Amino acid sequence: MSQVISPHEDTIVALATPQGVGAIAVIRLSGPQSIQLVNNVFYGKDLEKQAGHTIHFGSLREGEKVIDEVLVSLFLAPRSFTKENVVEISTHGSSYIVNQVIKLMIRQGARPAKPGEFTQRAFLNGQFDLAQAEAVADLIHSDSEASHQAAMSQMRGGFSGEITDLRAQLIHFASMIELELDFTEEDVEFASREDLRNLVEKLLKVVERLIDSFDLGNVIKNGVPTVIAGKPNAGKSTLLNALLNEEKAIVSEIAGTTRDFIEDEINIGGVIFRFIDTAGLRDTTDTIEAMGVSRTREKMKSASLILYLFDLGDTDMIEINRDINLLENLGVPFLKVANKIDKGNKQLINELNRLHPDTIFISAGKKKHLDLLKDKILELVNLDKFKTGNTVVTNIRHYDSLNRTRESLLDVLTGLDQEVSNDFLAMDIRRSLHYLGEITGEITTDDLLANIFSKFCIGK
Ligand code: GDP
Repeated sequence: MSQVISPHEDTIVALATPQGVGAIAVIRLSGPQSIQLVNNVFYGKDLEKQAGHTIHFGSLREGEKVIDEVLVSLFLAPRSFTKENVVEISTHGSSYIVNQVIKLMIRQGARPAKPGEFTQRAFLNGQFDLAQAEAVADLIHSDSEASHQAAMSQMRGGFSGEITDLRAQLIHFASMIELELDFTEEDVEFASREDLRNLVEKLLKVVERLIDSFDLGNVIKNGVPTVIAGKPNAGKSTLLNALLNEEKAIVSEIAGTTRDFIEDEINIGGVIFRFIDTAGLRDTTDTIEAMGVSRTREKMKSASLILYLFDLGDTDMIEINRDINLLENLGVPFLKVANKIDKGNKQLINELNRLHPDTIFISAGKKKHLDLLKDKILELVNLDKFKTGNTVVTNIRHYDSLNRTRESLLDVLTGLDQEVSNDFLAMDIRRSLHYLGEITGEITTDDLLANIFSKFCIGK
């Protein structure tokens, strides 16, 4: 079992605000001794006599030396994030002060917190379930409206409630069927097979909806993978830079120099697009570039959206039609984007308007019609599905457990169809329960917990 027993006997300390210089820094302690340890070095009043949810001004001293004037916030167990005694010390935001205060607390008897240990304690002390704890990490790292909403909804319960409820009903069935095992001679049926089948089908629906939501969840969390495809010098880097509004990719006058993939993210209308800048669309004799080209194809296939970019001054209709044909065969949604409109080329523009009226004309270099391009991008990815109130699964661990749950539930149904013996039925139900429990943390192992919380930062 876990080395960390609950309630925890040791008191942990860490910086809760980012490293570096800020106006203030917050150092957090959690554990039974946290108030006493701070009180030992705090001058102003007796913190152990104060109520919870109060703030106190004073100075932290080591011997005669004043380290800083601080504000101390007290949260008494169980009314705190970790459900333990929590103290937050707000100091001036110098890294020297922060180091001094943390060292002082360690000398008093606190222990430096491990990554995610505050959240882990909150989980182990029953503040929330595992899926909600993981959402805390997602929330901290969310950088768009869509990912923020997904994390927020999960932190507030999300699908945990739904799953916990159905799981409880399934546990009931499992125990009834196991009870029947004790009465094999008498041919009793405590659990109605009809009701069990209904429950399993209901669970399967929920589980399958959540599994389906993962594609969307993944995109919300990691961004819509987007490729800008086009031959050398079409203006791919320039467009990416224009969209990013800063010079991140190397813009070059020499054809074919953009050989490496440059991934960058931009937020369009609350959705993150992960741009993958690519080295060219067509085969070439230059070996380095040819490698780039085959990688390009791979990347293009894995994209959710392709911007097909071509230079109005340097492309003819035959070429464009051939590229469009190629892209249509690839099966990934794409936009036809004609670049360098500032260069003119009336004839090609007319032809494009006639043959491909959905072409978007821009100038990446002159930053013309980029807003129009952004609108079209949003249209193509169908923003509506990002705005649904439905809970979405964004976590690969949950996705795995849901898939295993689904398989086990299907086994239960097959078992019911084939009227297998009770012990087999009970086993399949128990297996479904196990995988469901993994999501909310009713079933955990040390490895699993260590793996989840090590991804948090220290102080969280
Ligand atoms: P890439 O090889 O597709 O990444 O193309 P680059 O972004 O390196 O651009 C190739 C050249 O085209 C550079 O000299 C850019 O300055 C130029 N360029 C890009 N966009 C425009 C534009 O809208 N108008 C004009 N006139 N030149 C552009």
